[in-house]
Amino acid sequence: MYIRQAVIILVVAVLAAPAVFAAAEYDSLPATSCDSVLVDSTWYMLPTQWCGWKLDSADVVDGITLVRLPDSLTYEEYRIYVTRETREAFVKMAAAAAKDSVKLITDSGFRSPGFQMRIIKRRLKEGQKPTRVLREVAPPGYSQHHTGRALDLVPSEARFAHTKIYEWLQQHAAEFGFEQSYPDDSDSPFPWESWHWMYVAK
Ligand SMILES: [Zn+2]
Repeated sequence: MYIRQAVIILVVAVLAAPAVFAAAEYDSLPATSCDSVLVDSTWYMLPTQWCGWKLDSADVVDGITLVRLPDSLTYEEYRIYVTRETREAFVKMAAAAAKDSVKLITDSGFRSPGFQMRIIKRRLKEGQKPTRVLREVAPPGYSQHHTGRALDLVPSEARFAHTKIYEWLQQHAAEFGFEQSYPDDSDSPFPWESWHWMYVAK
């Protein structure tokens, strides 16, 4: 009987103040924010860097409308899907880069909101702090990868900034309609992602 009452009280408390729960437990996440995300029955307020960056639902594409990139341009022949225009532009850009002995290989294109949630869950399960995870991983609805126009190039990590590939992209990507989304800019609320490029031409 007591156990049942305790469970009811706990459930009521969680339902009544989910955001407060998360904020109290991880006090470096903001107590108030523009949005929150529910991960395995815990609500987390989003770091304020995401405020104003939620994608329009029209920009979140349906995976079935996408086309697959050629295996020769994907890491270990991953199956990577993007919009038709993004594929055309990326194939052209990769061919131009190859002429300069630069190999463009991607390891991520379209990712659904569900996929984004799985990344967050996995990293939390690995023991990473929610503040770090939610700063580094776009919450569902906020990732440019939902658009089918964003690509991560290999190596998709900080050292990419020191590669010949990055140097080449800085000089030529714009000619093919690609732009770096999260540049090395101290005014930007986002961490620098030298490997993340988006097809922005219409
Ligand atoms: Zn990316």
